Amino acid sequence: MALVVQKYGGTSVGTVEKIRNVAKRVAKTFDDGNDVVVIVSAMAGETNRLVALADDMCEFPSEREYDVLVSTGEQVTIALLSMCLQSMGYNAKSYLGSQIPVVTDSAHSRARIKNIDDKKIREDLKSGTIIIVAGFQGIDEHGNVTTLGRGGSDTSAVAVAAALKADVCEIYTDVDGVYTTDPRMVPEAAKIEKISYEEMLEMASLGAKVLQIRSVEFAKKYNVVIHVRSSFDDKPGTLVMKEDQEMETVLVSGIAYNKDEAKISIFGVPDQPGIAAQIFTPLGEAGITVDMIIQNVSHEGKTDMTFTVPKTDCKKALKIVEEVAPKINASGMKHTEDIAKISVIGVGMRSHAGIAQKMFETLSKEGINIEMISTSEIKISCVIAAKYTELAVRVLHEAFGLNKLETDE
Ligand code: ADP
Ligand code: ASP
Ligand code: MG
Repeated sequence: MALVVQKYGGTSVGTVEKIRNVAKRVAKTFDDGNDVVVIVSAMAGETNRLVALADDMCEFPSEREYDVLVSTGEQVTIALLSMCLQSMGYNAKSYLGSQIPVVTDSAHSRARIKNIDDKKIREDLKSGTIIIVAGFQGIDEHGNVTTLGRGGSDTSAVAVAAALKADVCEIYTDVDGVYTTDPRMVPEAAKIEKISYEEMLEMASLGAKVLQIRSVEFAKKYNVVIHVRSSFDDKPGTLVMKEDQEMETVLVSGIAYNKDEAKISIFGVPDQPGIAAQIFTPLGEAGITVDMIIQNVSHEGKTDMTFTVPKTDCKKALKIVEEVAPKINASGMKHTEDIAKISVIGVGMRSHAGIAQKMFETLSKEGINIEMISTSEIKISCVIAAKYTELAVRVLHEAFGLNKLETDE
């Protein structure tokens, strides 16, 4: 008998019919003799609808009330799934994050899980009950509802699996695994059988939304093997696990893209110590994650600074930069949301040269201009104009030999 944690994403619980399908899978796992804990997301589109309602209501909604609102989607699905299982003759019980409790810090809309109390879950499991937990949400030490950031149910699932020391953590979604790039954009993308935590972390942080970044961080920290698979068939999916020797032989394992960032430039900034801190400290204090930063070579003691922030934080970031700009005597500023970041990822890069050159050549052959570049040990990212996203992903996928072979399934 094993303890199985399963997470079903929004598309897998998007309709009552789909919830019935999930209930059947859960029931089968239970009938096979396992203890089962299920984490569910809100029905597809629901969280977006709630976010839009908040945006309609006011320009800068209170972060506390925002979480109270956007966490409600998951309350609907836990109840529906539990009802369905009960009507099939099973003992099932739903829990909100606050009822478990899943205790988080107080960083609303991007809270981090600090602790999960496993007492109630363990007691219910002993009495043969299937537990259904609302993903994406928790409660802080002051009793406020918090949410974990978009896609956060993945993190709820991995954290519950780690807390319970589960034998299996399955993330069910609408694709049957992690692919070499988004299979919805590139049909030639190939399924990856197993991928290291490091590569998956890069893929997730560079735009592959199949897993939330924090879920992979959690899995790495607590050594939870994640099995990403489809809720619509029984094919084996992708294992996200510790790096092994076989993985290192692969030079490039994936291409990711991210169209969710905006670029802000500040011109004519004095090139002197302390200026970067004056710009980036207030952004950090406002909880805005700055991604790429470039500073031009200075000219007559002045320089330009360009950086990227999530589009969702762009309004907030611009407000801060507008306040800072006169204080540091900047001559002007500009921003655009019309960008995409394209990244090539692979642990094999550590020991091989020439990947960056191949990436730049491939983009230049298509006449795609590179606006910003950043690298790490196992990835290279370029910012380009958003309209070239699909073209760039396709040509890079082909250039790095990732297109699936005719003989692949
Ligand atoms: P869920 O609602 O189940 O959480 P998501 O929409 O968050 O599902 O994640 C699944 C989606 O991730 C897929 O439909 C796919 O379009 C996208 N995706 C992006 N990059 C990749 C990739 N490299 N491999 C698999 N899926 C990817
Ligand atoms: N419902 C939340 C979202 O759409 C959490 C999740 O689906 O993982 O972001
Ligand atoms: Mg998701």
